[in-house]
Amino acid sequence: MTCFLCGSEQYDHFERAESFGFPLVYFQCENCGLVYQSPQGSQAADPAFYAETYRQIYQSSVEPTPKDLWVQQHRALSLISILQTLKIDPPGRILDIGASTGVLLEAFHNAFDAAVTGVEPGDAYRQHAEARGIAMFASVEALLEENPPRFDLISMIHVLEHLPDPVGMLRMIRTDLLKESGILLLEVPNFYAHDSYELAHLACYTPHTLQMVLREAGYHVFFFHRHGFPRSSLLNLYLTLLAQPLPDEAPSLPITRDRLVGLKRQAGMFYRRTVQKLFPQQAWLPLPDEKVG
Ligand SMILES: [Zn+2]
Repeated sequence: MTCFLCGSEQYDHFERAESFGFPLVYFQCENCGLVYQSPQGSQAADPAFYAETYRQIYQSSVEPTPKDLWVQQHRALSLISILQTLKIDPPGRILDIGASTGVLLEAFHNAFDAAVTGVEPGDAYRQHAEARGIAMFASVEALLEENPPRFDLISMIHVLEHLPDPVGMLRMIRTDLLKESGILLLEVPNFYAHDSYELAHLACYTPHTLQMVLREAGYHVFFFHRHGFPRSSLLNLYLTLLAQPLPDEAPSLPITRDRLVGLKRQAGMFYRRTVQKLFPQQAWLPLPDEKVG
């Protein structure tokens, strides 16, 4: 078993958990500190898992749920406002990997008048996006076969934590899909606030290990934000970042170790339990079905 981030084969046992009735074991890399599952031991590394099983297990349905759509819509508006606040040039060509039903791409199209393309392995979700008139592909490989012109913006929202080779995927995006001046937009759960232990979460990213993945893949991170939007106003459940590809000749910096991960995780979970108890309304903002109910 090798670490997804640094390739080291030295690891310690980190924690056992359970997700949808499946036992999970998380390990920690002795070299860089990344917390990860063995991809061989996890069903989630099998591509067939995402075509059908994933949504069924997670949402008891292969169809998008109202809760899921509500979160995606609010998340999309927030991501667009980040790009607008930073005065990023309106991207003309946008690719979303893990595009789900195309909610984010539709919002990007409306905000920037951009040409949008999506990659989504889930059949029912991809069909929803196609019905919205979005060009969709079942895999990055299928998209590459079409030899698409390069993109100004590529987003991967809650995708990286599912990948057994995140560095390889980000390198491929840099070398084959993104313009030299293009922007990568990423969001993942924050291991220091989000429960994170899920069947399909192969890696649990901290602010440090996430930035090391980007460094290793050859990107310069120029915006990094910890926040809870749209689920919480007190818990920094998510890490959102913007990055640009570094030129090939840029010197590569070494990976540095994430320190005290177990302690910071315990402190984060203690804070979470405390604010959930003291400020339940702010810790978890109401979702639409909870509002009507
Ligand atoms: Zn490592």
